[in-house]
Amino acid sequence: MRVFTSIYIILLVYIIAAIVFWGISLQKQNELLFEQQVIVLKSLVEPSRYPEAYNQQLEKLQHTRQQHVKQYIGEGGTFLVVILIGAVVVYTSFARRIRLSRQQNNFMLSVTHELKSPIAAMKLNLQTMERHQLNEDKRIQLLDRCITEANRLNDLCNNMLFASRLEGRQNTMARESFDLSDLVRYVAADYAGRYQGRFQAHVTPGCVITGDKIMLQMAISNVLENAVKYTPADTPVSVTLEAANGFATISIADSGSGIPDSEKKKIFNKFYRIGNEESRTAKGTGLGLYLTNKIILQHRGRIIVKNNTPSGAVFEITLPV
Ligand code: ADP
Repeated sequence: MRVFTSIYIILLVYIIAAIVFWGISLQKQNELLFEQQVIVLKSLVEPSRYPEAYNQQLEKLQHTRQQHVKQYIGEGGTFLVVILIGAVVVYTSFARRIRLSRQQNNFMLSVTHELKSPIAAMKLNLQTMERHQLNEDKRIQLLDRCITEANRLNDLCNNMLFASRLEGRQNTMARESFDLSDLVRYVAADYAGRYQGRFQAHVTPGCVITGDKIMLQMAISNVLENAVKYTPADTPVSVTLEAANGFATISIADSGSGIPDSEKKKIFNKFYRIGNEESRTAKGTGLGLYLTNKIILQHRGRIIVKNNTPSGAVFEITLPV
């Protein structure tokens, strides 16, 4: 990308310099032509004998010279503007393509990793159970770990499946009336069970909405999953559901490091992950929030992220009731 940018800038500077150079040399020719025309005029109409006629002709020549100057500036300027606009359009679309292909590469790397690591963990836990005589507590602990990994695998497959359905425009949203309060309570309880002592839920009962229950469950799970993934293990996550003025608002607040203002919109882009592959420790694909945003938009709602105090992020999902 850096090489491309350098070559591109050099070429652009060369083209602009060439246009400026041609403009200057045309102007020089214009001046030369004018001087020669004045010499010819002087030989044809003697200024001391016929001053009026001479001045009249001279004015005509000066006018033509000025017309040429205006023409060079106008045409040259238009060329320059068109070239600059074209250059910006080409550069931004090329840069976008490069960025997307890089993100897709990262995506493939992280998907492979995401698929392999829960499978490896489950295999290890099952092999331990097969090879050793374990007490009941240990056995349950290993089974729990297997279930957690299977859930992770399940979430990832759901996300990937849904993403490909979205791309292929095969996604049809169910429209059923259901109790959002029940759904939020259920998802929060699921996470509270998986991550003991971390989740607190305050859910206003009786919020009924119309939409796709499974999709919304996936959207809320994605945000809860992130609240676990991107925050220290001992920090709390609160899930609240409030209803007012025909809207239900689900807030998921964590106490992690939060999301910088410059990233707050970008995190909803496809494959987007903050930081780079080397510095990132949490696993992911950059699909979760992209899909969550799509699902919420399909329900005529919106999702935004704010800062939590003193630290952390608050994801706010608003849906029409
Ligand atoms: P993934 O988690 O697979 O990387 P997401 O689309 O779910 O993809 O999230 C995009 C990025 O947003 C993440 O890579 C992470 O950097 C950032 N992010 C999401 N949720 C949080 C959070 N609660 N706290 C801090 N960063 C977050």
